[in-house]
Amino acid sequence: MSLLVVGSVALDTVETPFGRAEDAIGGSATYFTAAASYFVHTQLVGVVGADFPKGGIEFLQSRDVDLSGLVRLPGKSFRWSGVYSFDLSSRETLDTQLGVFAEFQPRIPESFRDAEWVFLGNIDPALQIDVLDQVRNPRLVACDTMNFWIEGKRDTLLELLSRVDMILLNDSEARELSGDHNLSRAARWIQARGPRYVVVKKGEHGAVLFTPTSVFFAPGYPLEEVFDPTGAGDAFAGGMMGSLAVAGGLDDADLRRAVIYGSAMGSFAVERFSVQRFEDLRNGEIEERVRHFRDMMVFELPIPVNVNV
Ligand code: AMP
Repeated sequence: MSLLVVGSVALDTVETPFGRAEDAIGGSATYFTAAASYFVHTQLVGVVGADFPKGGIEFLQSRDVDLSGLVRLPGKSFRWSGVYSFDLSSRETLDTQLGVFAEFQPRIPESFRDAEWVFLGNIDPALQIDVLDQVRNPRLVACDTMNFWIEGKRDTLLELLSRVDMILLNDSEARELSGDHNLSRAARWIQARGPRYVVVKKGEHGAVLFTPTSVFFAPGYPLEEVFDPTGAGDAFAGGMMGSLAVAGGLDDADLRRAVIYGSAMGSFAVERFSVQRFEDLRNGEIEERVRHFRDMMVFELPIPVNVNV
């Protein structure tokens, strides 16, 4: 089983009501691999600049990520900065500096081209298509996107959709992409354009999986302390894809379990700044949280409904 991810490897400057982190290790591919590496050996394709710190590379190495697709170019690393609202439910992007990302042409190493599970992290949809053209026969291709591309590269994004099996996106992105405020209709609209599986993430309120024949809802994990929501979506995707790769199948039970593992990994990501939580997270903690998810979702059926009342 092999899992390939392409995405950003970044330096993030993040401000939340609890503090500020400057030039911290981040990026969609970083959070994704940090989470996915608890399940499978993950292959990363991305780019960093000359300024990317040794500690960031060492972190990925410590998670046993295959970095033969990570190139270092002269110039500056991709930088993103954002500030969160008081309740952490919304964020504003303050600045995006593409740096070496501007000239990035993903080249998939020969040893990665037979990857069975492929995740196209949030980057220019033209680059996501470029990656797709280089992989041979994946079992499942999933992608992420964001408002930046929905607004700026809509046609290319629609072309990408026609070629992927799954998309993960936020509720606001689903609404913007489909032009429909109703999430169930928005998901059906997206499915009609290609992906069989649509995962709509609703931040602390959980996530909904739409398949051609069913709908599954995972609650958000009731954390008492959230420090930095950055990367929750990518860690979710890493947990979900990692879990699917381990299970090796795509039936309803596999997909539902994967949504729960995704929710668990997303919930760990937000407990500390940057990828810090993945520096000491243990396998047993993941299993415990997943079990807690199941306990939260169990209820008894049925009670007789009194038709005379
Ligand atoms: P999330 O909170 O899951 O949406 O992921 C946030 C991560 O995405 C941060 O670590 C950023 O470095 C990265 N990011 C933000 N904007 C972009 C973009 N336009 N392209 C690629 N990565 C981005």
